[in-house]
Amino acid sequence: MYLAELTFKIIADTSLDRAEAAIRNYVEALIFNGQSLGREFPTAWQQHSFVCRLVLPAENALQQSCHSPRGLQAQQQLAAAGLAYPQVRILGMDLMSQHSDPCQQSEFYILYSRFSDTCSPLRCGADLAPVPLYQLRTTAPDHEALLRWQLQYQALDEIQMQQNRVLHKTAERSMQQLHSDLNRQGRRLARRLAADNNIAVYYVLYSGSSSDCTADANKCCPGCGANWQLTAPLLQLFDFKCDSCFLVSNIAWDCQSPSAEQGTS
Ligand SMILES: [Zn+2]
Ligand SMILES: [Zn+2]
Repeated sequence: MYLAELTFKIIADTSLDRAEAAIRNYVEALIFNGQSLGREFPTAWQQHSFVCRLVLPAENALQQSCHSPRGLQAQQQLAAAGLAYPQVRILGMDLMSQHSDPCQQSEFYILYSRFSDTCSPLRCGADLAPVPLYQLRTTAPDHEALLRWQLQYQALDEIQMQQNRVLHKTAERSMQQLHSDLNRQGRRLARRLAADNNIAVYYVLYSGSSSDCTADANKCCPGCGANWQLTAPLLQLFDFKCDSCFLVSNIAWDCQSPSAEQGTS
């Protein structure tokens, strides 16, 4: 990922409110198209311009051809707020974030996210590297629905990772159960991406804890009941993969820890 500085020159009369709203509108359009990562975009008012910092998945992510219709419209609206199109300066590679997928072509993708991610939830099937969403075809106006799904997924993951959870088991169940609203929504989005891009997109069914570790290691695909055990883990992460249901999963994390050998709880 790259750290970029966008300078919006003031070219006509404006007010702080109008300029702020126009910049927010533009940057949010970039975020919901996957051209900018994360949710924050610190912005400073200098004498004749506004300067904003963004993390981009690729150096050329803000090229005109990468914009969504909403992004192009927001760009037009900058002028109405007295601002010029932004000048983009790449400050360098962001040392704090993951690198985008280097593969020219992937055999398949995986929809995968964890609470601490600041990258695309679509991952390359060969190396799990994040695939910039703006590079994908979509029949939707942009990737807002997928990114809003990711926000909820990460929020639940964050909760279920905490020692003193405020939602006992509810968050984990949402992530573990095939037919939870969260997973239904996620799988629908994965299917849409697969259809729009003519590529297989697997959905990760999270498995955190289990009341029976022996059964968990031998579980069948919850979608079709088939044996979906892999002979070697995929990406050192997934022990199960179903090519009919486009699901991947792991042996419950609790059952993989040394304490699991002492029995189940
Ligand atoms: Zn890759
Ligand atoms: Zn299946």
